Amino acid sequence: MKELILSLPDEAATVALGTQLARACTQSSVIHLLGDLGAGKTTFSRGFLQALGHQGNVKSPTYTLVEPYMLSPLAVYHFDLYRLADPEELEFMGIRDYFAQDAVCLVEWPQQGAGVLPEPDLELLLDYCGEGRQATLRALSGYGSDMLQRVAAQQG
Ligand code: ADP
Ligand code: MG
Repeated sequence: MKELILSLPDEAATVALGTQLARACTQSSVIHLLGDLGAGKTTFSRGFLQALGHQGNVKSPTYTLVEPYMLSPLAVYHFDLYRLADPEELEFMGIRDYFAQDAVCLVEWPQQGAGVLPEPDLELLLDYCGEGRQATLRALSGYGSDMLQRVAAQQG
């Protein structure tokens, strides 16, 4: 499966998509989160992280660029590259080490790291749609396509 489009009528639906993708994600992977400010990237990340056992709040790591969540069995690194001035900064922060680990990397504003970030397994695009949002999930690797299949299987 290459692409899945879902309608997210409210915040709870965005959180639920995070939960569904977390259930579908059982190994190291890279997930890019695209969409304007306020589209729901961090809301989605909260659903994802809480489904993997994180208790408490999830904030966009806008100033620190990355927030680690040492969950078991999979660690999650939540990136927000909105304030990244130059993709080269990612080299200085040792970006390759994060992506080499047995972990899931969720990346908000991946466009900012173009040329330095590795290719994602999956891309989630969130668009404003009336009062709600529309989610477009795109698989960019074989594993991404497996995840997409497992998300599709969870739709009612
Ligand atoms: P981003 O990280 O993309 O900048 P946030 O997740 O921080 O966005 O904020 C998204 C805002 O939109 C929050 O106020 C949240 O309550 C709201 N929201 C999230 N998903 C939906 C949805 N599907 N429909 C309507 N509002 C939503
Ligand atoms: Mg955010």
